[in-house]
Amino acid sequence: MIEDKNQQRTQLSDLGEFGLIDHLTKNFKIKQSSTLKGIGDDAAVLDFKQNKIVVSTDLLVENVHFDLSYVPLKHLGYKAVVVNLSDVYAMNANATQVTVSIAVSNRYPLEALEELYAGIETAARIYNVDVVGGDTTSSTTGLLISVTAIGEVKNNKEVYRSGAKPNDLLVVTGDLGGAYMGLQVLEREKEVYKVNPNSQPDLEPYNYIVERQLKPEARKDIVKLLEDLEVKPTSMIDVSDGLSSEILHICKESGVGCDLYENKLPLDPQVISTCEEFNIDSTTVALNGGEDYELLFTVSQEDFPKIKANPNLTVIGFMREKEHGVHLITRAETKIELKAQGWKNFNA
Ligand code: ADP
Ligand code: MG
Repeated sequence: MIEDKNQQRTQLSDLGEFGLIDHLTKNFKIKQSSTLKGIGDDAAVLDFKQNKIVVSTDLLVENVHFDLSYVPLKHLGYKAVVVNLSDVYAMNANATQVTVSIAVSNRYPLEALEELYAGIETAARIYNVDVVGGDTTSSTTGLLISVTAIGEVKNNKEVYRSGAKPNDLLVVTGDLGGAYMGLQVLEREKEVYKVNPNSQPDLEPYNYIVERQLKPEARKDIVKLLEDLEVKPTSMIDVSDGLSSEILHICKESGVGCDLYENKLPLDPQVISTCEEFNIDSTTVALNGGEDYELLFTVSQEDFPKIKANPNLTVIGFMREKEHGVHLITRAETKIELKAQGWKNFNA
């Protein structure tokens, strides 16, 4: 785990603020033609020609959103970028730039921040976005990371949460609940480690779900796929808090109801087996787990032939009139009203 790493410890104060910024950002390369000026001036300069711009920000706080006892810093940097890109893709836009701001206490050596930035750099490379700025400051408590993602989308191609219509199909990408079950496994191993620091966890049987938690991916590919299929969703959102909560957002913003079918929920076999092991209901996990960073969207029924054969896409529900309400139709064909649970950062 993380304590074993970072043998070398260079004090941040040895570099000073500007030395630190230079050191951390020296590997970033500009790849996007829309980036006229990246890091190094008072502000970045971007040129999107005729396109619309989308902007989204997230703030991650140590011990609220991440726990460094089992999250490697490199993964944290990667995830901090990816979760923001996911919001850009959820607008049907292409992510092009990010800014990264950190507040960090002296207990972090330079080598720890190098790990964090290696993850940020990897995500920027894989998703083809430029890191064009940020801010660096000190913190008296833990680590804070804020990422702002910027993207572009052609006029009239942007997709809001608000466009779903009755009779539209509800579609989700990939599978659900993996990130949550990965977290359960990591939390359990952390408890074991506290009791016996020499224990070496065997995470191999959980490789898929642990990766879903530690190294999530954003569905950049889906934005491209929808374009290739010539499908413009009527509404879209990314699954960060949990499927129930996201469905309720779409229904509220669009003024519609929904029937969600339990027997259609896409679950990986590893999620099912781990749910059995932990004695947790897999439907509850799929509905409320969160952090899967899949895309949830609605399409009009006439687009069904274009999407039906695609293994990345599962039709899980049917939009209804608002008066109908929002329900889960269970395997036993009973109707249960859908309620948001999501992640309760404030209730902890
Ligand atoms: P200012 O005083 O104008 O805020 P800074 O000295 O904070 O400028 O930043 C200098 C340059 O480095 C700017 O381009 C800024 O966006 C960038 N920068 C600062 N901190 C970070 C960081 N943590 N990650 C990436 N870029 C950063
Ligand atoms: Mg600054």
